[in-house]
Amino acid sequence: MEKLSYVYINKELHPILGYSSRQIKAMDYMESQKLICVDDLPSIEEYLRSFQESGNEDVREVEFRVKNIHGQWWWVKARGKVFKRNAGGKVTQIISIIQDWSQKKEAEEKKQENEFMQALLQKKDEFMSVASHELKTPITTIKASLQVLQRQVERQVDESILLVFIKRAILQINKLSTLIGDLMDNTKIQSGKLRLDISSCTMDEIIADSILHGFNLENIIIENTVTEPVEVDRIRIEQVLTNYISNAIKYSPGSDKILLRVNTEGDSVKVSVRDFGIGIAREKTPYVFDRFFRVNEASTQFSGLGLGLYISAEIINLHQGRYGVESEEGKGSTFWFSVPFKHQPTNESSM
Ligand code: ADP
Repeated sequence: MEKLSYVYINKELHPILGYSSRQIKAMDYMESQKLICVDDLPSIEEYLRSFQESGNEDVREVEFRVKNIHGQWWWVKARGKVFKRNAGGKVTQIISIIQDWSQKKEAEEKKQENEFMQALLQKKDEFMSVASHELKTPITTIKASLQVLQRQVERQVDESILLVFIKRAILQINKLSTLIGDLMDNTKIQSGKLRLDISSCTMDEIIADSILHGFNLENIIIENTVTEPVEVDRIRIEQVLTNYISNAIKYSPGSDKILLRVNTEGDSVKVSVRDFGIGIAREKTPYVFDRFFRVNEASTQFSGLGLGLYISAEIINLHQGRYGVESEEGKGSTFWFSVPFKHQPTNESSM
């Protein structure tokens, strides 16, 4: 079809478009394209082109948006068939019926919205189920430890035995407070209320504080440090480092060696935590800093909510730093972050 023009427009379209039959008939295809939503032009081109390969009885369809005389957009649907061919069999005319499709489209959009909401609710339920399980497990251990303690105290047993149960309860309470802290941080991030409290300190001090979080010091090898002071939120950077180290331990069931390296990189300081654990498949690494993302979602082997790295990434972003991971499945991972030595306050990050 070298040239396309309108011969007859069904009456249903008149109130929708607001143009008279005469006005429409006077338009050619080029002119009427101005009334069609640009995003839908490729599907219309494809619709028109498809008739060249159509049999005479084939019905082709296309949905698109048109702008009426008042500037409002309407969904319409065209259904067409080959009408005339030239002596060489080339299609020269098609017949198309155009219908108002806005209500159907609205219903379709509503349906999609509903499906999206359902999927969202399902995700929320899944999260609630994971979160309650994660919170319940330490509470059960704490309760059991306290019950044992109570019995031992009643029997006035040796204090060293009591200490074992007290330590066990404290470990679980620490786990609980990290979980609750992560949930609260997530809420703060969502409402844009995560703020930094900047002060000057050294990475050495932060590392020293981080590894005091109950980690086995013998397994953490510090390869290199930087003593130059850095302007950061000390508690938040410690949180990132603690998260990296506890993940390195958690996801390395067969190995307990962790290498910690601090380097200067231009005007930033870079910290890397390397483990020799399960590693992460290459295609999954771009997502590990996403909220709720867990590589081993289906497995109950490793506990977690999938929030730690997301919160770490947000903290580093507020410092205008960078973060990342290099990993090989089955060999181990290196999680790293870098922050500028001098903090540049932004509206979001400054106190
Ligand atoms: P969580 O550990 O609570 O699941 P994180 O946000 O800390 O959440 O980590 C997200 C996911 O990234 C984890 O579920 C895990 O699959 C993967 N991951 C994080 N750190 C490591 C690591 N050191 N080795 C292997 N996988 C890791």
